Amino acid sequence: MVKVDIKYTKLFINNEWVDAVSKKTFPTINPQDETVITQVAEGDKADIDLAVKAAVKAFHRYSEWRLLDASQRGRLLLKLADLMERDVKYLGELETLDCGKPVAQATGEAAWSAQIIRYYAGKADKILGNTIPADGEVLSMTIKEPVGVCGQILPWNYPIPMFVWKIAPALAAGCTLVIKPAEQTPLTALALAALIKEAGFPPGVVNVIPGYGPTAGAALTNHPCVDKMAFTGSTEIGRIIMSGAPKVNLKRVTLELGGKSPLVIFNDADVEKAAQIAHRAAFANAGQCCAAGTRTFVQSGIYEAFVAKAAEIAKKRTVGNPYEDVQQGPQIDNEMFTKVMGYIQSGKKEARCVAGGDRIGKTGFYIQPTVFADVKDDMKIAKEEIFGPVQSILKFDTFDEVIDRANNTNYGLGSGVVTKDITTALAFAKHIRAGTVWVNTYEHVTPQTPFGGFKESGIGREMGEEGILQYLENKTVTINLPKKPQ
Ligand code: NAD
Repeated sequence: MVKVDIKYTKLFINNEWVDAVSKKTFPTINPQDETVITQVAEGDKADIDLAVKAAVKAFHRYSEWRLLDASQRGRLLLKLADLMERDVKYLGELETLDCGKPVAQATGEAAWSAQIIRYYAGKADKILGNTIPADGEVLSMTIKEPVGVCGQILPWNYPIPMFVWKIAPALAAGCTLVIKPAEQTPLTALALAALIKEAGFPPGVVNVIPGYGPTAGAALTNHPCVDKMAFTGSTEIGRIIMSGAPKVNLKRVTLELGGKSPLVIFNDADVEKAAQIAHRAAFANAGQCCAAGTRTFVQSGIYEAFVAKAAEIAKKRTVGNPYEDVQQGPQIDNEMFTKVMGYIQSGKKEARCVAGGDRIGKTGFYIQPTVFADVKDDMKIAKEEIFGPVQSILKFDTFDEVIDRANNTNYGLGSGVVTKDITTALAFAKHIRAGTVWVNTYEHVTPQTPFGGFKESGIGREMGEEGILQYLENKTVTINLPKKPQ
């Protein structure tokens, strides 16, 4: 076990580290061995109130933050990216401790997140409005302004990237923030808060309140001084956030939710390459990935060869101590472990299990990479989000059949197609109902490309140009201007 120094366990409000008003703490658990890593201050409604107050003050029209040039907001973000790179090894090790993902992956995610910050740093002084040829004796223009105080609620599966996906566009836009990290993974959010302070962001611009969803999360969602909520997590909680917002102040809401994404492999694909793409699509991050390609549709001509290859690759996947050179660590917690094992039991009754199917060891939340073949659309494992290392392989015959079946879900986050035929690929891209289509690759997500869902997979987009627009209001200014000087 690697020894990781835990420097921050308190709430971060106004650039200060404080205990919860209630003085309560909660444990964060190591998914490798189920031990308590440390106690963390447990934020509640009273703490959310203090954090929102700080964010409102920091958003005052004459605050230090509001008076900064847009280019200087960009400079602060660039500094933050530099600090993340300086600490990338530490951030990766801390993430592995709290979250269980392999340390090379965690470190890579921290480095990638710095790139995302740089992308949005560059956007800070390129937020442009329009001039509009309006009717009448007027000059009209639009000004894009920060939406205001934003509440941001995060999941546990990619703690550093999710923190950054939320803060980077919001800060580039000029908003102030109250962030609630997932209760399973508060530690890297607090480490990043320390870097935000070190980078020189003024007090109150970013506040981080660890705590539980129904208490701290709900208080943020229901706060009348919060102008916008951004949430990533389950569709179930997304609905709660969406319905809570209009009760108090019609705050804006963007949601990144669950998925049951299809990856469709046609007969002309190279079986080995397709199986590798499908493996990564299903098993990346131990399957704890909202856009995971969990429904692998394979055309009948290559079906059996593909199933054999998929099983072979899954059996070779290395699972174990995430501080070692492995592909997969433990699942995040006992709740998710139990849920995933329940799906595996259900799959074993209904489908053909060709790899895995059991837990690994007796302590820690380790699960064998599991592959089911002959999965049918109405099986539980084909319909519900498992969020674990489970691949379901389904057979199909024709293009139209597979489009109908792939679209027959309430979700619409990711999708993928593997084929050598450009027409098939483009036809797939046209007819699939999902926020992202990957062709001959999967889960290639970049700072420049928008990410988000159709249907019940979400509202709005993160990353890319679209990502910053979600943190901006549009103000129209119309000025009397006679066509002919009087
Ligand atoms: P979850 O929805 O239970 O929790 C996510 C966050 O919401 C946590 O911070 C939690 O404390 C908070 N929360 C819980 N109840 C709340 C409430 N009543 N009010 C306000 N906040 C509340 O999700 P989970 O089970 O921890 O994470 C897994 C799910 O997240 C999966 O379904 C997955 O698909 C989804 N997810 C989606 C994306 C995406 O980008 N679309 C990314 C990661 C995870």
